[in-house]
Amino acid sequence: MPLHSLYWFTQDLRITDNQALFASQNSETLTCIYIVDPRKFKALRWQLASLGPHRWSFIQDSLSDLSAQLHMLGQRLHVYYGEPETIIPRLCHQYHLNHLICTRLPGSDEKRQLRTIQASLPQLKIEQFDNYTLFEAEHLPCSTETLPETFSGFRRQAEAADVKEPLRQADSLPLMPKLFALPAIQRPSWVPIHPSCNTSFKGGETEAQRHLAKYFSGTQAQHYKASRNELDGWQNSSKLSAWLNQGCLSPRQLKFSLNQYEQSHGENDSTRWLYLELLWREYFQWLHSKIGTRLFHFKGLAKNAPLTSFYPERFKKWCHGQTPYPLVNACMNELRTTGYLSNRGRQIVASCLVNELSLDWRYGAAWFEHQLIDYDVAINWGNWQYIAGVGVDPRGGRHFNLEKQTELYDPLGQYRKKWGGTNAGPLDSVDAADWPII
Ligand code: FAD
Repeated sequence: MPLHSLYWFTQDLRITDNQALFASQNSETLTCIYIVDPRKFKALRWQLASLGPHRWSFIQDSLSDLSAQLHMLGQRLHVYYGEPETIIPRLCHQYHLNHLICTRLPGSDEKRQLRTIQASLPQLKIEQFDNYTLFEAEHLPCSTETLPETFSGFRRQAEAADVKEPLRQADSLPLMPKLFALPAIQRPSWVPIHPSCNTSFKGGETEAQRHLAKYFSGTQAQHYKASRNELDGWQNSSKLSAWLNQGCLSPRQLKFSLNQYEQSHGENDSTRWLYLELLWREYFQWLHSKIGTRLFHFKGLAKNAPLTSFYPERFKKWCHGQTPYPLVNACMNELRTTGYLSNRGRQIVASCLVNELSLDWRYGAAWFEHQLIDYDVAINWGNWQYIAGVGVDPRGGRHFNLEKQTELYDPLGQYRKKWGGTNAGPLDSVDAADWPII
């Protein structure tokens, strides 16, 4: 039967190393869509919207770039606004589409959406491709069910496994169905328009490739291990996460650029460490597939729930850089202003929320979800669980000594000065009985 395919773009906003797009070459017709879901802008869980201005701006840039790339292959990208569970069945009915192609994502929301679509269209053939991970489900060194409980167990198997070479881009793509009437889709009023963001990251595959080439054209990768923990500095880590997580760049493309770099500059501890971090990314993806919604449970993977609670005033102060801890405040100010924070900065503020402020870690994770330009559900919630002591950390949580971290990573106060990190006074304005503290 001829396939009339609908390609639903999600976190795979690229045309190179895109197995789903490559496979769509065999279809009779092809329709490419991206769906902007209103639920992402609503404060539903944790009283915070999932999608904040930094990432939304990055996604819009990525969509413009993807649209231009598809145009060169004779295709078009149609952006729809609404819930995928409603839009996809409607389009399939309207244009007699019998095949849905998309990238496999570990997220529980994404899985539920696909189940709902399949239930409303049982005849629809749904094909998912592993475009978001280094390994494909069938070639994973272990099955999802037998995924090791710690990263080191996974790492041992993954380091010995081969990663497939990235695919070249499809030569040409099938055309849209003849009857496909281009809908004049107006941008609905619920789609926020933000003033331009103060960030160094510009979305899109073109930018991703440019940044990747630039990173490996210098010597930074040679010193990655020593510099990755610095709080500030564009060159200190690869800064590729935002492109990886919207799929403007594939992890395989990063791995192969790293291999080429090692061939010409030599392999060392730093280049190996960079791959190790990419394996952490990978581990969290398959872990989320395995544990599902336990990623969001207060007690996570632990036997007992943490001894923390929720204090609205403390949480507000943490979000807005108003705690008694100048280094934490500087980090939180950088995060709010740019949508990015170094790995060390993320660890410091997460540890502070859990240990100094005694707050429920999930509110911190939700604030990161809203703010981060490189947010990824599995990595973010997995790292938060780890620091809160309810994740895959065999040592059971992390408590960073704030004074020591300040001495080590901001001895001259430059970072605190740059991001306005000062001591904002006492944490609580009321005591446990709700009396004002004078
Ligand atoms: P590099 O240091 O250059 O690392 C290369 C790549 O390896 C990264 O792009 C990323 O894909 C991966 N990586 C690096 N560190 C980690 C890590 N600790 N766990 C998993 N993968 C890693 N990263 C995200 O991509 N999205 C998130 O939502 C996210 N939330 C985090 C929340 C907390 C509380 C913490 C402690 C870390 C979080 N990280 C997250 C991991 C890490 O901080 C970022 O990946 C990194 O800072 C991105 O900068 P980079 O691309 O320069 O990383």
